[in-house]
Amino acid sequence: MTLTRTTSKGSPESAPRAPKLHVVTFGCQMNKYDSLLAEGRFKRQGYATTEDMGDADVVLFNTCSVREHAEERTFSWLGELKRAKEKNPGLVIGVMGCMAQRIGEEIFARAGHVDLVAGTRQFANLPQLVDRVREAREKRGGADKGTRVLALEMNDAVAVDRDDEPWDGGLHAYLTVMRGCDLNCTYCIVPAVRGRVLSYGIDKLVHEAEWFVSRGAKVITLLGQTVNSYGEDCAPPLPGEARGRGRQGRPSLADLIYRLQDVRGLERIRLITLHPSYVTEALAEALRDCSKAERYLPIPAQSGSDAILRAMKRGYTTDLYKKRMEILRSRVPDLELASDWIAGFCGETDADHAASEALMAEQGFVTNYIFKYDPRPTTHAAEHLTDDVPEDVKKERNQRLLALAERVGLERHGRHVGSVRDVFVESVSDRTEGGLVGRTQHGLMTSFRGAPELVGTVARVQIEGATAFGLSASLATSAPTC
Ligand code: SF4
Repeated sequence: MTLTRTTSKGSPESAPRAPKLHVVTFGCQMNKYDSLLAEGRFKRQGYATTEDMGDADVVLFNTCSVREHAEERTFSWLGELKRAKEKNPGLVIGVMGCMAQRIGEEIFARAGHVDLVAGTRQFANLPQLVDRVREAREKRGGADKGTRVLALEMNDAVAVDRDDEPWDGGLHAYLTVMRGCDLNCTYCIVPAVRGRVLSYGIDKLVHEAEWFVSRGAKVITLLGQTVNSYGEDCAPPLPGEARGRGRQGRPSLADLIYRLQDVRGLERIRLITLHPSYVTEALAEALRDCSKAERYLPIPAQSGSDAILRAMKRGYTTDLYKKRMEILRSRVPDLELASDWIAGFCGETDADHAASEALMAEQGFVTNYIFKYDPRPTTHAAEHLTDDVPEDVKKERNQRLLALAERVGLERHGRHVGSVRDVFVESVSDRTEGGLVGRTQHGLMTSFRGAPELVGTVARVQIEGATAFGLSASLATSAPTC
């Protein structure tokens, strides 16, 4: 694409300038990762990225469908761009991600100035899809009608080949190890919008991790909807082939962690999000054996009531959940757990809610993410279960869980006070002058005073205080306490 720029003196300058891309990302870390991949694809095609939406030739929205308000926020942003499109008809506006996959053509109906709607497994094709919009416009002499492109196919081969892509994402990188989900929790829209599980090969992932590290990353978060089901969709090895630690010799998350432990320059391996059904002894042993793996696991329980877990089709009982946590804690006694909770799911009684409080307190989750139940269209729960818990009861249960989470979080963080920990320093504090912020190997946010040069290194600190959400410390020289 060649654009003509006007110099400050007003004379036209014919040197081509790189077309500019601006991406707006909503939702989870997986979307952030996909946005980076999409940016990389465009950069390979000669685009530059811009922070200024008004300066962009292509604006992409990477969207979320998990809650209704996330979709409405996207529509409100799209509405803002209508005037920009009128002023600059050459602008290409695209919507990608979960909302694009979920409602597809409806986006064109509600926002007629959108040119492109691309599903969750289309990011690799985005530059070509934008070219198709432009080609269609050219054929129609610039007219905007009939130039829309809709691409929702769930490709199985979502190529991730980034060797030539520039990346300057800093100390922390996200690495999607698998896409989609093979479970069918009744409230969840993910299987519908992200498709069935697709795991990437271990060699490819290690290569990508090395690529991140060679460009400065020191912490890598392994991402997946059920990250510990990694490899379940792979074929078992043939006779004579290397066997993994997964079912019937399949590759598993444990294998990947062991491989990443050997990546020189990598300091920390973080995991998001695990499912209790895929907790194995091999995973627990990998966490025990690999010093780079954080001792912090988000493993959503969602409810402490077996009746509600059944209605959610979570695939486990509270008893099984506890047994799985026991497998982990028996190998890694200082493990910290985080959980998501849904307050007021269909049919939830006071006793069911009390069971959730009991499980939260008993397991001692250091971090809890609590949501009021909000039915999402097309899910099994929205279509077949009755959303029968009154709004005020949902709110009250939500508040009670939040209050308990604060007490439990404070107690768990408090256990670290007095210990000496190695903290990976992530940034200077934007709240305290002279302050730094990092995480212990237990994934706990820790603030302390220190020189900015410590950012990107591991600092040894003495933990001195705790809140429900983090730790405060000072630099130390003594050996870490286990
Ligand atoms: S495990 Fe359940 S909640 Fe998580 S992504 Fe899969 S279907 Fe959704």
